Amino acid sequence: MTAEKIDHIGIAVSSIEERLPYYRDILGLEYVGEEIVVEQKVRVAFLQVGESRIELLEPTSEDSPIAKFLEKRHEGIHHVSVKVKNIKSALAKHEAAGSQLIDSEPRKGAHGMLIAFVHPNSTGGVLLELSQEPDT
Ligand code: ZN
Repeated sequence: MTAEKIDHIGIAVSSIEERLPYYRDILGLEYVGEEIVVEQKVRVAFLQVGESRIELLEPTSEDSPIAKFLEKRHEGIHHVSVKVKNIKSALAKHEAAGSQLIDSEPRKGAHGMLIAFVHPNSTGGVLLELSQEPDT
């Protein structure tokens, strides 16, 4: 198997400050910190749930992809991230199958993970993120 687990589910929110209390205090997920991903113009709050995480995504500028998402579709699930052993071979497999890739090369996401997005047209309507631990 090349896919290992659901790494995280990304949820677009207007304000982490406003939404965090629900996920942490009411739903009871463990809040494990925050990070600003400069490349994607997004602030991310990490909430651990078993082996996976929920990530709350808040735009840090108006031209952030998350800002555009919120404008069009309001708050909600933005993407599902599946952790793979080897992102380059996963991308090659997608390409060979004719999948529509948003990133044909991996780029850097939160926690230094290598990530690449697959277009919803190829996945049944879900923006799918492939992610791999950075090579050490
Ligand atoms: Zn993600």
